[in-house]
Formats: sequence, structure tokens, C-alpha cells
Amino acid sequence: MKVLIVGAGLAGLRTAESLRGAGFAGEITLVGDEPYFPYNRPPLSKDALANGLEIADLEFKRRESVADVTWIFDDSATSTDYQQRGVLLKSGRLESFDVLVAATGIRPRTLNVPGAEKSKFSLRNFAEAQELRTSMLGVQRIVIVGAGFIGCEIAATARKLGIDVAVVAADPEPMFRPLGAEFGHAMKHRHEAHGVSFHMNAKIAGYLGGESATGVSLESGEEILGDLLIEAIGSLPNTEWLAGGSLDLKDGVLVDSSMRATAPSDVSIYAVGDVARYAFDLFDTTPRRIEHWNLPTETGRRAGKSIAHFLHTGEVLAESVNFVPSFWSDQYEDNLQSFGMPGIADSINVVEGDLMGDCVVEYLRGNKVVGVVGVNTSAKLAPYRKSFQETN
Ligand SMILES: Cc1cc2nc3c(=O)[nH]c(=O)nc-3n(C[C@H](O)[C@H](O)[C@H](O)COP(=O)(O)OP(=O)(O)OC[C@H]3O[C@@H](n4cnc5c(N)ncnc54)[C@H](O)[C@@H]3O)c2cc1C
Repeated sequence: MKVLIVGAGLAGLRTAESLRGAGFAGEITLVGDEPYFPYNRPPLSKDALANGLEIADLEFKRRESVADVTWIFDDSATSTDYQQRGVLLKSGRLESFDVLVAATGIRPRTLNVPGAEKSKFSLRNFAEAQELRTSMLGVQRIVIVGAGFIGCEIAATARKLGIDVAVVAADPEPMFRPLGAEFGHAMKHRHEAHGVSFHMNAKIAGYLGGESATGVSLESGEEILGDLLIEAIGSLPNTEWLAGGSLDLKDGVLVDSSMRATAPSDVSIYAVGDVARYAFDLFDTTPRRIEHWNLPTETGRRAGKSIAHFLHTGEVLAESVNFVPSFWSDQYEDNLQSFGMPGIADSINVVEGDLMGDCVVEYLRGNKVVGVVGVNTSAKLAPYRKSFQETN
């Protein structure tokens, strides 16, 4: 019996560990398109960009239980043969499977704007972080397109390095979608206090200069100068290699609470981590794809356990999705911690401090708390988490 996991990131690693933890003794093969064992991505926009970390500083510790896993690096899945149960790799190698796990994460979405080929960057992996750091150290001004978490974290890191930063975004406030207008507005002030200039509700009309950018022009006619452009405008799930079957791949791979995809019942396909879309039973029945660091671990654990259970009993594991999405973000000296789903709230309640300083903020949908966000208050969040878990 062979489980093939495609994607050698956190979710792939946790799935392999969970399979072994649940007693699966068969073959496990992990395919990754990068040349490294699974590593931690959050430092890529923070420490690794500011200080230039090595890959050894970022790699996750791997449990003894997965020492016998077969790793294939630097090769990517290009297509799936559902009838023959095989995945074709770019190298031409064909990997068979009894159970297939998609753990391929996401890639940055890019703007379809021509030009700036030599000075345009996005950030998802170690190689990109290294390249971006080297290039950033050689310039005075950068323009970041997009004001989500990644865009804001890069802005904060660039300011630490003494680089002038302009942020251009179509949204009205930074981190508007995950954290709402009021919180985003306060975050904008924090960044402005560190010298970042924002151009919100703005659309890019074009890149200035030739292959080496000199800035961007906006649809308003305004021009913003910068020698390096970073596109941080969201993500696309890596699912192309799964096309041609009956999976629902509208936005990532739709899976049920056991992380099993809606495939024909005789083909066992699972998805985990950033690429998986599923309903969080704590909130509602809408399947969502959420890119938070704790979810590759939660979904990997669930998938490993579900696969082992299915192979052992022939039955699908029926457990609700009770994972609480959680993330943190470091920007300047500020540490943001969040749990729940602030992005689905319709109002907020500042329960401690104020939005411009250290604070705890509850996010409500109707009168129900669906998320809590703290700034520099991580030590105070435990009772909020406990109360959230008791009421959900
Ligand atoms: C710069 C950055 C900063 C972040 N900061 C935070 C933070 O502060 N807090 C937080 O909560 N979260 C943060 N995150 C998010 C967090 O890192 C992700 O949620 C997590 O890495 C997702 O894990 P994953 O295993 O699902 O995907 P990944 O870690 O992306 O792993 C997927 C792997 O599959 C590979 N792959 C893709 N396609 C193929 C293919 N066809 N064949 C083979 N391999 C393939 C990819 O190259 C990758 O190696 C950050 C992410 C980034 C990029």
C-alpha cells in the first residue's frame, strides 16, 4: 500500500507524520518541487529578509517515524492519471499511488502588467526570499503592490533596512479583507509612523521604465517612483496537476471533514494545508481555503488519521472540523495574534486598549464572537480563546 504526498511543505510533512502516528506501515513517498526538506515560510518576509537566514535555520525537525519516507526533491507533479492511479512528474518519472495527498500549497498571484522583468518580485519560497533580499539591499526605493499581510510585512522589513517604501493597493485599507476597515486603518497609521506611504483604492495602469523599473503609474495618472517592485496581491492554489478528474478545483481542492476530496469513491484523494478548501464547522457550512500557519498541521494530522482509519476499516472517519484558524504577524515592534475568522465578522468591539496602541479586539457576526485579534497582547489572549472555544 502506497501513499503519495505531492508537496513537501509543512502540510505534507505533518500528513506523513500523522500516517505513521496512526499506525500506517506502508510506503510513503513525498514529492517536492524545491530542493529542500520542508521548511518554515513565515520568516521569509521577516527575519530571513532582514538578516539573510540559511535554509538550515528554517527546516522543520522531522520525527524519527518518517525517517523511512522516500523523498523526491526538485521535481514537480504535472498531471494525474486517475484510472491508472499515477502522477506524472516533470522529469518524466511516473509515481503510482493507492492514496494520493495534495499538499501543493499556493503561489503568488501576479499582475498581468508588462515590463519591469528585471526588477519585479514576489515572495513565497526560500529562493525568492534570497533573491529579493539581495536586490532590496541594492536599492533606495521600493513599491509594494498589495497591502495584505505579506505586503505589510515586507514593508516593515524594508523600512528596518532603511529603504523608502510606497504601498499601492486596490483595497481601502491595509489587511482590509482579513481584519476589516477599522483595524486596517489603525495599522496604516502604524506603518505611516514608520515612514511608509500608502496609495489606497488605487489601480496600477503600468510599470515605468523598461526591463528595469523606475516606478509605477496609477489609473489616476499619479506616478510613484521605485527601483524595485514587489507584487503581493494574493495567491493561486497549485492544483493544475490535478486537472482532468472529477475533483472540485474551483479555489483549491474541495474536501470533507476527513480531508478527503470529492473524487469517485474508488479513488482515494486527500488535500491538506493552503491548497485545501473545507467547511469550518465552528462557523458555518461554507467551504473556505485559509492560509494560516496552524492549518497545515491540523489538516495534515486529520488526513493522516483519516487515511489510516479508511485503509484499516474501509470506512470514512466522521469527525467535525473543529480547528480554530490562528495566525500571527510581526510588523516593526508590533506582534499581531489572531484566532477564529475575523474576516467574516460584521462589527468589532475593542475590549482592551485602543486600536492605535496595544489592544484586544473581538470580531462579531451578529452578536456572536467569530474571532479575536490582539496587538502586543499575546499573554492576555488565553481567556478569550477559552471563552471562544466554550461558546463555539
Ligand atoms: C512569506 C510568507 C510569510 C508568512 N507568514 C506567516 C505568518 O506570519 N503567520 C502565519 O500564520 N502564516 C504565515 N504564512 C503562511 C504559512 O507559511 C502557510 O500557511 C504554510 O506554509 C502553508 O503550508 P503548506 O504545506 O500548505 O504549503 P507550502 O508551505 O507552500 O508547501 C507546498 C509545497 O509544495 C510545492 N509544490 C507546489 N506545486 C507542486 C507540484 N506540482 N509538485 C511538487 N511540489 C509542488 C511548493 O513549492 C511547496 O514546496 C506565511 C507565508 C509566506 C509565504
